[in-house]
Amino acid sequence: MAWWRGFNMYLCPMIFVFGYHPITRQIGPVEERECANCHNSKHWLLHKRTYFISLFFIPLIPTRIEYFSSCPICNFREELVREDFKSQEPLARLNREAVERDMTDEEYNQRLEKL
Ligand SMILES: [Zn+2]
Repeated sequence: MAWWRGFNMYLCPMIFVFGYHPITRQIGPVEERECANCHNSKHWLLHKRTYFISLFFIPLIPTRIEYFSSCPICNFREELVREDFKSQEPLARLNREAVERDMTDEEYNQRLEKL
């Protein structure tokens, strides 16, 4: 007799929906550079991607983190090591804030010097 024949659904009525998926956060624009793929010169975007084990589509356990920057035109990406990501992160956050709200050049340059 197979083992599941004696398995009573009333003793185990819950169904768990597990998943594994990434969540990508765009940190902000970093330095301007030429893309090796499309050859446009633009400010590349810094990203952090975290892979989660999820339960009922709610991310619970982070398992892996990827860092990369990407071309805003063609999405060509370049992997980064954690140290490179950490060194570019303050600039990306400042640039993102400058883009999202009206920041004067004076304030931007003051904060850029502090980085
Ligand atoms: Zn490109």
